[in-house]
Amino acid sequence: MKKKKEKNGKNYSMQTRLIYGKSISKKWDYNHHVVPPISSSATFRLDTAKRGAQGFMEFAHHNGEKTVESRAPIYIYDRLGEPNKELLEENLAAAETGESAVTFCTGMAAISAIFGALTGSDDEIIAHSVLYGCTYSLLTNWYPRYRINTKFIDLINPNNLKKEISLKTRVVYFETPVNPTLDLIDISAISKIVKSANKNRPKGREIYLVIDNTFATPFCQRPIELGADFTVESLTKGITGFGTDMGGVVVGPKWSYDLLLMYRKDFGGVLAAKSAWPIMVYGLPSLPIRFKQSMKSALEVAKFLESDSRVNYVRYPGLESFPQPELARRQLIDYDGNFAPGVLLYFAFKGKTPKKRKEKGEKFINYLAKKAYTITLAVSLGMIRTLIEHPSSMTHAAIPPEEQIAKGIDPGGIRLSIGIEKVEDIINDLKKALSKI
Ligand SMILES: *Cc1c(COP(=O)(O)O)cnc(C)c1O
Repeated sequence: MKKKKEKNGKNYSMQTRLIYGKSISKKWDYNHHVVPPISSSATFRLDTAKRGAQGFMEFAHHNGEKTVESRAPIYIYDRLGEPNKELLEENLAAAETGESAVTFCTGMAAISAIFGALTGSDDEIIAHSVLYGCTYSLLTNWYPRYRINTKFIDLINPNNLKKEISLKTRVVYFETPVNPTLDLIDISAISKIVKSANKNRPKGREIYLVIDNTFATPFCQRPIELGADFTVESLTKGITGFGTDMGGVVVGPKWSYDLLLMYRKDFGGVLAAKSAWPIMVYGLPSLPIRFKQSMKSALEVAKFLESDSRVNYVRYPGLESFPQPELARRQLIDYDGNFAPGVLLYFAFKGKTPKKRKEKGEKFINYLAKKAYTITLAVSLGMIRTLIEHPSSMTHAAIPPEEQIAKGIDPGGIRLSIGIEKVEDIINDLKKALSKI
């Protein structure tokens, strides 16, 4: 990258570092571009057989050293590594304040890679009882085939974890804020329990704490700073932000770098360079400014909805009525230490029966889907456009209705992901829809 005196920006704020990355990177030797060039080459010229042999020998042999090499790596084949992905990975590791990052083609590819890399047959995963639908399906439909079972427990109370840990446990896994209820799980408290359990375990049977940070993004929450071993993230959501690309990342300790590169090489879920490039050039650099704008609006929208007599409750970590205010202010903070309650909110309408509430939710959503200019009915989140969805019948439809209610998912509950539109416009669209229910 463009040469500057300051080598890696460590003395600058993260908002600035997400734009420049490492101003001098050994990942690719070009000097006169301002924007890193897009690289699209499935295979790489090796010059001599010796250089080819060296490239193969060096692949995934960092041996726990820092991922920064003293010279540009010898690229061989895109599935092993190529410059755009690796530049993005350096920036993602910095954003999550982790030691190394490995990207994947989707969030699910990243999640399955970290489970695959850390567990084997007869190992056990402990996970929170409410998870992203496909993660839940991965753990319940596929892993049992390899005798990897998951215990689903309520981690909102961290004390529930202690009695569930056994010698089989290898991974503790959760999302916080929880989707869609926005309940928070205390990362530091869970990390303490995991670390204390690890003291008495034989080598090779350590438990790793893995957190899906997709909802908050590293702008609002850095699990590794709070004691997690790994962060996984769907880049498709808040980090890409413009809704143009899919991607995933695992950020973790430097010893995991080679392991994850090997896993990615053999399972094959690589992030395309054509997707790595926009995420690096547009998505990550604009994350702070997009999220600051969206968060300001999210609070206003949350307050507006809370003041409406038709609304039963609004869940947004920035509201005074939020059930876990102390944890929210301790855990959801931006790089400058400001409270950063995120861009998602969840709310439900009043109604005597679950059926009534469901009807109201659907009517409201259908009106917006047809008429609203600023609010789009679509899954995904963290985009510059405001998105709405109905978890009970869409993202969480796999959970039976009675179980949904027990897990805090209201039959008519609505999830909103606030974009960067002018907030008055979002509220106007919501007002019109409210008048129809
Ligand atoms: C979207 C999402 C994923 C999966 O990411 P993809 O990029 O769609 O594969 C995982 N976890 C959470 C919390 C998500 O919102």
